[in-house]
Amino acid sequence: MKTIAADFRELRAQLEVEFSDLLAPDLAANAARAVYIVLVSETAILSADADFSGLHEPSMAGWFRDIIGPRWKGLGPTILLHDLHIAESGGDTSHELFVGTAIHELAHALSSPGLYSRDSESDAQPLPDGFVNVVATSPGLDNQSARHGHGVAWLRLCIHLTHRMQARGWDIGLPFVIDRVHYGYQSTSLYRRALNDEVTQLASTPLTTIKNIAPPQPFLDLWNSDLAAWPDV
Ligand SMILES: [Zn+2]
Repeated sequence: MKTIAADFRELRAQLEVEFSDLLAPDLAANAARAVYIVLVSETAILSADADFSGLHEPSMAGWFRDIIGPRWKGLGPTILLHDLHIAESGGDTSHELFVGTAIHELAHALSSPGLYSRDSESDAQPLPDGFVNVVATSPGLDNQSARHGHGVAWLRLCIHLTHRMQARGWDIGLPFVIDRVHYGYQSTSLYRRALNDEVTQLASTPLTTIKNIAPPQPFLDLWNSDLAAWPDV
């Protein structure tokens, strides 16, 4: 098993290396240089009280370029982790929650077309006021926004990513990646089982390629039954 760094900034460094290596074929196919993880405690602009653990927006690499600083190698998928919120809400398991949230957000980056926005190819972009306001006033996810972005393709990528991290020695379980109650899934282990041996059969297939391969029917059946039970969709 991998020794998970006690310090969040060291853990971030470990994860950036691991994610950049794990996604190497996907990064190369999309002209991306690295995966970046930015911490809310490093940003002067975002409120420590904001109620979220992690966020992903395709433009984050450009917004946080100055904060990434000497680690910058060029554009790439970038995620934001609320280290202060994770430390408070995660308690004894805050390190697992930190890793799980990073995997959760990385699956969002992999779900988005092109992995990241190329709008900020030449210059750092200012963090839009709209983003700061949304983050500051977010009351947490409601039924509608919980479904947004947390669909069947994202869920499958979370399972593949978690499996690959486990294979690399990370002691991390799906419950830290997906808050199943929050997102209306019956059981993450049922989904894991419904994928059957796909995670091992496709273990060396780039994750962005897996998106274009139809998932097993039992996986879709499970998803459709969860969707039917989901309120207000
Ligand atoms: Zn999410």
